[in-house]
Amino acid sequence: MERARIRVFDTTLRDGEQSPGCSMNVREKLRMAHQLDRLGVDVIEAGFPIASDGDFEAVQAVSASIQRPVIAGLARACTPDIERAWQALKSASHPRIHVFLATSDIHLTYKLRISRQQCLEQARDAVRLAKTFCQDVEFSPEDATRTDTDFLCRLLEAVVEAGATTLNIPDTVGYAMPAEFGQLIETIQRRVRGIERVTISAHCHDDLGLAVANSLAAIAAGARQVECAINGIGERAGNASLEEIVMAMRVRPDLHPYDTGVLSDQLYPTSKLLSEITGVSVQPNKAIIGRNAFAHEAGIHQDGMLKNPLTYEIMTPQSVGVPDSTLVLGKHSGRHALALRCEQLGYQFERRELDEIYRRFVILADKIKTVEDRHLLELIREAREQAQRIPPGHVGELPLAIAASAGAGQTRPSGAYFSKPLAAPLPADSKTCELPLSKVEQHSEQEDYLWGV
Ligand SMILES: [Zn+2]
Repeated sequence: MERARIRVFDTTLRDGEQSPGCSMNVREKLRMAHQLDRLGVDVIEAGFPIASDGDFEAVQAVSASIQRPVIAGLARACTPDIERAWQALKSASHPRIHVFLATSDIHLTYKLRISRQQCLEQARDAVRLAKTFCQDVEFSPEDATRTDTDFLCRLLEAVVEAGATTLNIPDTVGYAMPAEFGQLIETIQRRVRGIERVTISAHCHDDLGLAVANSLAAIAAGARQVECAINGIGERAGNASLEEIVMAMRVRPDLHPYDTGVLSDQLYPTSKLLSEITGVSVQPNKAIIGRNAFAHEAGIHQDGMLKNPLTYEIMTPQSVGVPDSTLVLGKHSGRHALALRCEQLGYQFERRELDEIYRRFVILADKIKTVEDRHLLELIREAREQAQRIPPGHVGELPLAIAASAGAGQTRPSGAYFSKPLAAPLPADSKTCELPLSKVEQHSEQEDYLWGV
């Protein structure tokens, strides 16, 4: 199947910047714009020039210093906005004026207080004016997904005729469902005269957590530009997340046979830079670039990962620029992961020795959640010291120093952690160390597999 090229329109610096806590000054926007250029986006929406002097300067600075991508500036459908946008954009190698006007009855009645006919004329006149400055004009009917479809198609036809080169369909309030949004794009494509001359674009918000799904549905229906933001920042619940859209296409080309110009190994560095600039970090479980997106703690997952990463990773961390997968050592970890970390720290253990380290490790992990290398080193040291004092085969109490660092002096029966995962029941009185180590060995492989399922 032929692979269509999707243009990635990044609005981190405009819609994204409008989200609480994410505003950026001129220098910060410029730094971010250079990284977006490295990332390979096709369009950088650098700001809303009439909104403030700072925004104007930022669009001007980005226009003057970033050559490859198209630089867009936002404008309402009125003369002062469009003129101001052009003033900020005119030094760009590839400038684009992005004009928007709300089209839904709810916005026309309560916000703009104009009729549908007035709306259509205003949109058409605004595009005509923008076109006198710039060949590349994008038009967005704000709140398109709550706009009467017949009216929307008529208005889009008028702006195409006026010279718009991109029609962006925003789900401004994050209200659409994927199938419905895809259908809307199809309808526009079928009914708007002259549509074959322009690019259809999608701009989805995440109020129902569907921004990426809606964007992909729009692309499947014929949209060839997608508007999105790094880390999914944007008004309210945010915009469609750039990294998720790009990787969805890359991981599932069988269903989404599209290419973008994005260099995926720049995704993580770009996300990190944005967090550093804004001071707003993403949640740990954020897809693609969250701290835990490539972290594995559950024992069976860690074991599988160490044998072959394909068992639990649908993409490599390197493909999105994350330095490496993280095996987090916690109470769900198995022996295999523990042994690997010990090896990385310079220790290799016999099976029996490892069992003892592992026993202590589980007790500790239960109390402190994540076992850091320093804890592990301490644990190894104490286990070795004790092994020298106690005859082989005897499993003693948890050493005092470790127990103290775990915040409690209590110990657990040596066999306690086997009671859940082991298929064979343990003797009820396995409180101290009656469990022969040979029995532990016999079941340990199985234990590694069951633990954390
Ligand atoms: Zn938006």
